[in-house]
Amino acid sequence: MKKWKGLLLLLIVAAVFLYFREDVRFRVVDTVSGWFREGVEWTELKPEDIKVVQKQLSQLMAEENCRYDQSLMLVNEEYRLTDAYTAAVSEYKDSGVFMNDCIMDAYAALAAAVQARFDEKLYVMSSYRTAEEQEALLASEGSDTAAQTGASEHQTGLALDVYVQYYAGDGFLKSEAGQFVNANCQDYGFIIRYPRGRESVTGIRYEPWHIRYVGEPHAVVIASNGLTLEEYIDRLKPDVFFQVGNYLISRQRGGEFYVPAVYEELTISPDNTGYYILTAKLS
Ligand SMILES: [Zn+2]
Repeated sequence: MKKWKGLLLLLIVAAVFLYFREDVRFRVVDTVSGWFREGVEWTELKPEDIKVVQKQLSQLMAEENCRYDQSLMLVNEEYRLTDAYTAAVSEYKDSGVFMNDCIMDAYAALAAAVQARFDEKLYVMSSYRTAEEQEALLASEGSDTAAQTGASEHQTGLALDVYVQYYAGDGFLKSEAGQFVNANCQDYGFIIRYPRGRESVTGIRYEPWHIRYVGEPHAVVIASNGLTLEEYIDRLKPDVFFQVGNYLISRQRGGEFYVPAVYEELTISPDNTGYYILTAKLS
């Protein structure tokens, strides 16, 4: 009988704790629902299942429905940016915030969703950093919190550290907006780049405020399957095509590309591991 009372007391304490700590509650619910979440399927196609043609990059670039961007750059300690890399960044709507050109529309859509749902402005604490700025940050903060120069994806302008009023950093999860961003950013092309419990893969502790653009349909595949960007790119076996819903994805060396004979849109991005990732949206 005594044992049951102890257990009951423990449950009450846990319930009270979860009631007052919104961020802890979110983490518990998110973890448990993750166990039951069904990952979006991605299937490897056999060569006979798809008709491909061979094209040069210059040929593809001349096509109106083909776009070259930097959306799928993998940047970490192992795959660093070199001096040869130039981030394709510009200023977001006269805000003084610089971000990669390919993420502007997605950020605008995510910020609009936060505004509409919670009447909150989604602010950007930190976005694009030059190599010099990263070096200065590393010098002032040390390597525990700042990445080595060349190893920070902020240098691509693809990552944003976001917050809402009164709720920044770890506290972002205490806000409804922060919980919404963490649970739904994949629908806007972003991922939580350093997820909970994946430090052994990413090398960086959980950062609920650091969102990274990868685009459609990659963000949904990564988030719904509980992957990190490292694992996702590793699973994109070179020179084959994967199908995800209405998209075909292929990772190739470049020079000449194998592309589907027919597509509505094609995006090509280098992945910083020596390959390019092709994302074809079928009609
Ligand atoms: Zn960050």
